[in-house]
Amino acid sequence: MTAYPHLLAPLDLGFTTLPNRVIMGSMHVGLEEVKDGFARMAAFYAERARGGVGLIVTGGIAPNDLGRFMTGSARLTTEEEAIKHKPVVAAVHQAGGKIAMQILHTGRYAYHSDLVAPSAIQSPINPLRPKALTTEEVSQTIDDFARCAELAQFAGYDGVEIMGSEGYLLNEFVVERTNQRDDEWGGSYENRIRFPVEIVRRTREAVGKNFIIIYRLSMLDLVEGGSTHDEVIQLAQALEAAGVTILNTGIGWHEARIPTIATKVPRAAWAWVTQKLKGKVGIPLVATNRINTPEVAEQLLADGFCDMVSMARPFLADPLFVRKAAEGRADEINTCIGCNQACLDHTFAGKVTSCLVNPRACHETILNITPTAKRERVAVVGAGPAGLSFATTAAQRGFDVTLFDAASEIGGQFNVAKQVPGKEEFYETLRFYARQIELTGVKLQLNTRVTASELAAGGYAHIVLATGVTPRLPAIEGIDHPKVLSYLEVLRDKRPVGHTVALIGAGGIGFDVAEFLLHSGTPPSQDPAKFFAEWGVDTSYAGRGGIRPAQIEKSERKVFLLQRKASKVGDGLGKTTGWIHRTSLKNRAVEMIAGVAYRKVDDAGLHITVGEREMLIPADTIVVCAGQDPQRELQAELLAAGCTVHLIGGADKAAELDAKRAIKQGIELAAALGEVAAKSAIQPVSPSGQVALTNHAGNAGPIFDTLTVSLENHIATIRLNRPDKANAMNMPMWQELRKAFQWVDATPEARVAILEGEGKAFTSGIDLEMMMGLGQEIQNDCEGRMRENLRRVILDLQDTLTSLERCRKPVLAAVHGACVGGGIDLITCADMRYCSSDATFCIKEIDIGMTADVGTLQRLPKLIGEGMARELAYTARKVNAAEARDMHLVNRVFDSREAMQAGVKEIATTIAAKSPLSIRGVKEMITYARDHSVADGLSYVATWNAAMLMSNDLQEAMMAHMGKRAAEFKD
Ligand code: FAD
Repeated sequence: MTAYPHLLAPLDLGFTTLPNRVIMGSMHVGLEEVKDGFARMAAFYAERARGGVGLIVTGGIAPNDLGRFMTGSARLTTEEEAIKHKPVVAAVHQAGGKIAMQILHTGRYAYHSDLVAPSAIQSPINPLRPKALTTEEVSQTIDDFARCAELAQFAGYDGVEIMGSEGYLLNEFVVERTNQRDDEWGGSYENRIRFPVEIVRRTREAVGKNFIIIYRLSMLDLVEGGSTHDEVIQLAQALEAAGVTILNTGIGWHEARIPTIATKVPRAAWAWVTQKLKGKVGIPLVATNRINTPEVAEQLLADGFCDMVSMARPFLADPLFVRKAAEGRADEINTCIGCNQACLDHTFAGKVTSCLVNPRACHETILNITPTAKRERVAVVGAGPAGLSFATTAAQRGFDVTLFDAASEIGGQFNVAKQVPGKEEFYETLRFYARQIELTGVKLQLNTRVTASELAAGGYAHIVLATGVTPRLPAIEGIDHPKVLSYLEVLRDKRPVGHTVALIGAGGIGFDVAEFLLHSGTPPSQDPAKFFAEWGVDTSYAGRGGIRPAQIEKSERKVFLLQRKASKVGDGLGKTTGWIHRTSLKNRAVEMIAGVAYRKVDDAGLHITVGEREMLIPADTIVVCAGQDPQRELQAELLAAGCTVHLIGGADKAAELDAKRAIKQGIELAAALGEVAAKSAIQPVSPSGQVALTNHAGNAGPIFDTLTVSLENHIATIRLNRPDKANAMNMPMWQELRKAFQWVDATPEARVAILEGEGKAFTSGIDLEMMMGLGQEIQNDCEGRMRENLRRVILDLQDTLTSLERCRKPVLAAVHGACVGGGIDLITCADMRYCSSDATFCIKEIDIGMTADVGTLQRLPKLIGEGMARELAYTARKVNAAEARDMHLVNRVFDSREAMQAGVKEIATTIAAKSPLSIRGVKEMITYARDHSVADGLSYVATWNAAMLMSNDLQEAMMAHMGKRAAEFKD
């Protein structure tokens, strides 16, 4: 007997029977438009069909050009286009599934200049004003819907879903706020609903009786002037009469300011809306939104809330959801945590969708887990998300995996995250991994803080460090005051916190700590009544749209959320969830202050300066949420002992809220371990472990002996990595520097590069041993040929440095400690230079009896003026950081190396957010202007812009400006 009899009961639609009550809801996955997208979609949907879902609904496909989301988005208007869908449909049918195609006309939400709507009324979330459809165009659009459905049928689909909710075109016709037409498609309610009803009627006529038509009906608009419940009933009945097979539920327009699917929304919170329609129509009703476990779905069906359930994101998280439930293995389901980080946030950033807890989603043809040929022993240190993902995948492949954690339970920081109100779902990910550990045979050793010597003695073929992060403590006077706590002491150790609280750092963790401190009792995410009160949802549905004024629970505490950056507080939060976090804290009167300089902590509180203003925050408690550093203490000793070490997760990159990356990196390394992984490991070539290759199997960058190269958030970091040789530039380094900058140039995701050094010095310049070895290289019996060889070597060395200028992306040199000789040649090729206060600069060549020959003498005079360049080159005297700034060799001096790294990263982040095409133009123009006359430069820029100005970037920048939002540029 199954635990889910209602969920697994077949549904007879008359002409066809669905095997169970589960619909995989429509999601635009971004594959619709990419190269090989249809093949990838075939694999993606077929895997879900094999997993037993009753009916799949595809992402929205436009019935005509005007209905597309963007120029270039998918549409279905011809047989030729329909043929492309056939492999997708065939793959699903072969896997035993059924699939319907969603027809979506985006109406006034479209992001192209020809957007249309019932009336020319602009949406608050789109900078573009729509044009009102003419009466003829309305008729044409109806024809287009019917034709599109016919083509879907031709492609082999089992049905279509007509998208009538979320504020898209059909929904816009239904309500007065967006439909103020005076023809037969506007005015009375009957007139306004004529458009969707006519679309269904004509579609049914076109496709015949034996074809599923789902209609996604906006049952609760959640906007001012939305439909009343009686109107929804009237429309539902009209749709049924027009030929709809199944009515799906839509909740809230995109412009509604009420969260409907984020993790803060209680599970199945909106099922009452569907239930309200039960008994009013004779066709099956589908409940949607935040249904993520078979238990919840079963209960809804058993309690008569609906006839089917639709789940979308849960099928990204686990394609086998239904099959696992049916086979009594529900505890093996990888549960959707509603985070949106890799699905909706990706969609809105124009990236292919995936899933934080399942990075294989939409990458089925790319990321595959195959058995290993050799059962090697692997040690994993750290059972946080990265270690768990790696360990269980590697064990599944057949590796013999031992997983150590110092803590008494698995989960790492997820155990802290799940304490935050609204993040309770994180618990499910840990439940999933706990079960995977049992199933895959990972040998788990909790309460075990392993040392490097134990690991080295263990004889492991691979050691994976997934040791996470350590919270950063900023250097502020009085930071050791007893009223200062770390976020871990608050969230994990539950240390007492006073009435007035200042939070240092307003990243994701700062926001989470604020939420934690401002809630008491059951959080709204666990208590639907509290949730609806807080967000102003009227569950009696007495008025239009189902909204009413919000009622915020009063909090005992006063919280100040502070950040150094001058940008808007919370700017860096997720695209589709950031507004929810910001609204939630604003509702609770949190004071958010940007551009803060922290002066000191004392008994009176936290002393800060904001702009010119000095302030005292009379905080009883100050909580530090100021970032984190990678925890890698085992690495050096393991490398020195000759072990093969891999770094993943926070131990590799300590970005803040980045479980997405941690889990992805874990699974990718595990999938590649063996033949491919050997290339990506850190492998010492000497017992001292001095030579490091780049660090993981993810997306970092090429692997070098003398450089560490990584790529994160569009910023490539090239680090000179011969620390025990003071980063002296030997021949491999010269060669690798050129390759590294060629890679930056050729890698679209890399928009800007930072050049820095590992260890005590930026660089001591050219390696003298290399100079000695040159004789060998240029050797020739003929004096002339030997000299010519030497010339070629010098030209080649020059070319390495010129590669920084050739690279179309800006290069920011970040100098600490000594920068000597060849180092000056190197940094003068960078676009900008910065240094920490300990930096010194010296043109050393004169002291070793040579004329500097790889760029300093040619470039430096143009930076600091000829007189000063001559002085430094003739005397080889040291220049300190302050003097370097005064002579404009560096743009800025930072107090410490850490401050410089943070500061340079901030500048790089700003550059990376700009139009990559325009940045390339600026670099090209400034470099060109340096070496040519003003007239030549002006002529060149005119030609450049004549060719390059009319770009997508220009269009996007203007739309972003009009929409008062940050622009999003393609790489
Ligand atoms: P961790 O999770 O830090 O795990 C490291 C593990 O290594 C720990 O269990 C530690 O005990 C163990 N360890 C360390 N050294 C040793 C040793 N020598 N021997 C044995 N064991 C050792 N991310 C998101 O993507 N979205 C969110 O919404 C989100 N919210 C968050 C909220 C909070 C409050 C916090 C603190 C974090 C949040 N994160 C979020 C971040 C996310 O939790 C981390 O990105 C993720 O946990 C990093 O995983 P990891 O495996 O690299 O490291």
